[in-house]
Amino acid sequence: MAVKARTDLEALDRTDPLSGFRNEFFLPEGVIYLNGNSLGAMPLAAAERAKRVVEHEWARGLIGSMNSAGWYTLPTTLGRKIAPIVGAGPNEVVLTDATGINLYKVVAAALKMQPDRRVVVMEGSNFPTNNYMVQGLLEQLDKGHTIRFAEADGMLDAIDEDVAAICITHVHYKTGNILDMAAITAKAHAVGAAAVWDLCHSAGAMPVDLNGCNVDFAVACTYKYINGGPGAPALLYVAERHHGKYTQPLTGWYGHAAPFEFERDYRPVGDIRQMLSGTQPTASLSIAEIGIDIMLRADIHQIREKSMRMTDLFIELVEQRCAQFGVELVSPRDARQRGSQVSFLNDDGYPIVRALHDRGVICDYRAPGNMRFGFAPLYLRYADVWDAVDHLHDILASEAWKEDRYQVRAAVT
Ligand SMILES: *Cc1c(COP(=O)(O)O)cnc(C)c1O
Repeated sequence: MAVKARTDLEALDRTDPLSGFRNEFFLPEGVIYLNGNSLGAMPLAAAERAKRVVEHEWARGLIGSMNSAGWYTLPTTLGRKIAPIVGAGPNEVVLTDATGINLYKVVAAALKMQPDRRVVVMEGSNFPTNNYMVQGLLEQLDKGHTIRFAEADGMLDAIDEDVAAICITHVHYKTGNILDMAAITAKAHAVGAAAVWDLCHSAGAMPVDLNGCNVDFAVACTYKYINGGPGAPALLYVAERHHGKYTQPLTGWYGHAAPFEFERDYRPVGDIRQMLSGTQPTASLSIAEIGIDIMLRADIHQIREKSMRMTDLFIELVEQRCAQFGVELVSPRDARQRGSQVSFLNDDGYPIVRALHDRGVICDYRAPGNMRFGFAPLYLRYADVWDAVDHLHDILASEAWKEDRYQVRAAVT
């Protein structure tokens, strides 16, 4: 659509079927939060839950809360809840540990299923921790495995009969490019490789169909679009057909067939709990349930529709108003090919992002040069898109970003 004024966007907000969700979140006054792809905003009910888990379940219930407050089973009860958000069956998901740690476990399991092969296919430009974790695993295995790095356009060709497993991220963290989960998984299976998918930038932002795509293993953050809270335990999925037929390296008591028999030797439980290692960050798990519950009440198709529209409008407005300052779109132009984020390239991206922060527009910087703007449809308004571009235009036109204080890199960008 051709947007001319803020009122055009206010009109969209009035008919937005998701608009009611904004009231369920705390958003600081004067902030336009375009970083829900890094850390989702806080649902108001999360503060209540945090208080309850600490002051009631912990303080009063003490160790008894393991049973009475359901602490012990949180990884599976929340896994069962979150499963439909990624198209998984109720017994195929646990919430546990960090995404990177879960990736380590599932890639190890996948490689063991193909003991005669030595290649893992990954996207080289992927969020680096995935590469680091798999590099660490291969070093530890010491069996001559290598990573074959490929980019989006060469992905299918890179998957041949030497490949034991692919480990691919669905939506690219920097560009927002979406990879074809069904086609890439089908190619992996056609050559006899296992398919591991990372859903960090897609879970809660768009429909995901792990079962429909026949995916073997998957992981995802819950602190991004699912609003589970800082450091919230991550999602881990294993297709039911593999249950009881794989091994994973972090064989702690929570994955044992009978943890409270205290047997000397490890004996894996045959279901999804085999991916658990030990005592979980219980307060974090409890708080994460709030974000999951909100997500379950929202229609993921409406979320995706709003996300595509918001990112389309953002691109349109930035190009309309800021093109003369040298901003280059690095995200796919076709909304169907793009996740819920937009990145623009500018050599001075870092100081521009810092100047935006000073004006309450919270986005982030991903070296080299990428200014990354995430759009979380549950709590953003279309009018926020207008206001964010307004600030960006002001900063570029006034050259406010040239101030000295914006040039110094902070530890976290
Ligand atoms: C956000 C993100 C992670 C984060 O991993 P942690 O273990 O939670 O630090 C990993 N991989 C991808 C692709 C991500 O986008």
